[in-house]
Amino acid sequence: MTTAAPPAGQTAMAEASDRIARAWELSYLDPIAAREIGRELVAEGGAAAGAGWLQVALAEVRVGDAAVALDALGQARSACIAANDAPGLTLCDEVQAILLRRTGDPEGSARLHAAIDARDSGGATPMQRFIGHNSRAITAKVLGRVDEALQQFYAASDAAQATGWTGPRITALGNLGGYQQELYNLEDARQLSEQALRLAREAGARPMVATAAANLIIIHHAAGDPAQARAMAEFLLTHPEELLPRALEQHALPLALAHLSTGDIEAAERHLRQAPAAQFGDLDDLSFRAWLQARCLLARGAAAAAREVAERTLAERARGRQREQSYNLMELHRVAADACEALGDAVAALACMRQAHALYEKLVGRSARARWLSLQAGHQLAEAQRERDLALDSRRTVEDDRRRLAELNAALRAQIAQTEMLHARLREQALRDPLTGLHNRRYLFEMAPGLLELARRQGSLLCVVLIDLDHFKLLNDTYGHQAGDLVLQRFATLLTQMLRRSDVVCRHGGEEFVAVMPDISADGAEVMLGRLLEAFQSQREEYGARRLPHGSFSAGIARFPRHGNTLEQLLSRADRALYAAKNHGRARIEQAPRTGFGTLI
Ligand code: GH3
Ligand code: MG
Ligand code: MG
Repeated sequence: MTTAAPPAGQTAMAEASDRIARAWELSYLDPIAAREIGRELVAEGGAAAGAGWLQVALAEVRVGDAAVALDALGQARSACIAANDAPGLTLCDEVQAILLRRTGDPEGSARLHAAIDARDSGGATPMQRFIGHNSRAITAKVLGRVDEALQQFYAASDAAQATGWTGPRITALGNLGGYQQELYNLEDARQLSEQALRLAREAGARPMVATAAANLIIIHHAAGDPAQARAMAEFLLTHPEELLPRALEQHALPLALAHLSTGDIEAAERHLRQAPAAQFGDLDDLSFRAWLQARCLLARGAAAAAREVAERTLAERARGRQREQSYNLMELHRVAADACEALGDAVAALACMRQAHALYEKLVGRSARARWLSLQAGHQLAEAQRERDLALDSRRTVEDDRRRLAELNAALRAQIAQTEMLHARLREQALRDPLTGLHNRRYLFEMAPGLLELARRQGSLLCVVLIDLDHFKLLNDTYGHQAGDLVLQRFATLLTQMLRRSDVVCRHGGEEFVAVMPDISADGAEVMLGRLLEAFQSQREEYGARRLPHGSFSAGIARFPRHGNTLEQLLSRADRALYAAKNHGRARIEQAPRTGFGTLI
């Protein structure tokens, strides 16, 4: 026998899925917190452990240790296989692709992306779409596939919007802004980064506040606006509470740039000294550092040292496999040219200047293309969004119609039920006497033919009794009409109490009552009526402060079929018997005499 899961177990499951959802929400806003939730789920074991491993893997691969990420990914994969969780396995592959890129294999990352895309991955959540597009964008960027990278960044931005979560939205804006900046599309870069900064500050997303602000320093500098660059640096330096503890060191190069471009060489050099060593293999970062250093040296009049730093880095870069023709490379050529010029080496200066100019032309060309691609991607996404909205709208309309129809149907059903109830009540009212609640003459004449027909077919007995209260006019005259009403009501109660349920009792009019009594002989009916008379005579009604006098009735009994085949005939005979009872002194019951007309069947 199976038993239902205990409520406590269900609550724990619901609670675990809440925490998984929370981890996803935090994964791009506060990866450390998301990793913590992941670790807790892993420690607790159970069904949510696989999801926990995946969170640990995602966080480690992005902001932590690649080896730890690899281990967590293996655990997550095993859990997904055990649970036959295909979407979970796809997510594991996405994390693996990030890991490949981070460990220096962007081609492997791209191949894995292509393999994932070849599968049918329908039903991906907005968050899964965001992770996928963001990862493809970064891989494409690293591989120098500008068009693809831009398109993927815009798709990531769209998916991020769909998650409704701040983390993915800021990440997407920040990444896109950063890439536009690399592509020298400064106008879009500035707008995107400003948006990212605003959102990050609102959400208190500390790593993102620093990154967006640092990017804006570089953008303002490149756009020829050193004052804005310096203002951004001042923001970073004066809002430590909005940043992570080591953010100023991490973003020392942009801070140095902001000071350099406003002529504060000393501060620029101080920040440069604080900058951590360049990440292995990141020649662009190395170039950035080198041209800043060279600029500072040049500003101090150390042209030879400046030239030495610039040329050494250029040579290193030429040996490396960095394929990006970047803004930093251009700046490096430019400072080399200035140093050569200061040293009086016009030929070398001209050569460097030409290189710088060629790079500048490439950057501007790429910038224009980036701008065009961005417009196009934005346009395509807006179109897709419009189509989605339209589809959503029409679905909503259909659903609205369906709901309205259901509401109308429900209202109609309720109305029909109410009408039926009303009809029943009206019918009931039409067939009942309002004063006594007994059935009325109409009901009697509806019912009687059926009862008579039944008695005829079954050959059973049936009596029709007519009852008239004695001296009722006197009662009315002495005690008033209301006293008469009261007596009528009490008599009606007595009738329903003392006659059988199968007897049809009605008020015939005034103080006259009719009873159609099936399955009873005239003598039997007489006995019953006798008891009724006794009961009626023995009760005295209280009427206000007064007591009403004892009442009585006279009754006549006619028997079917002896005294008639129809209700009218039977009533007529009963009435004659009643008349006889009145004549014989009232308070008595008379049977119709045996003689007289009557049709035998
Ligand atoms: P008898 O013993 O000969 O039947 O005399 P009676 O006074 O009962 O007969 P009569 O037909 O003279 O009077 C009937 C009275 O019943 C007249 C009428 O005012 C009264 N009555 C008829 N319907 C009602 C009613 O609904 N309420 C009241 N209070 N009185 C009614
Ligand atoms: Mg009467
Ligand atoms: Mg009467």
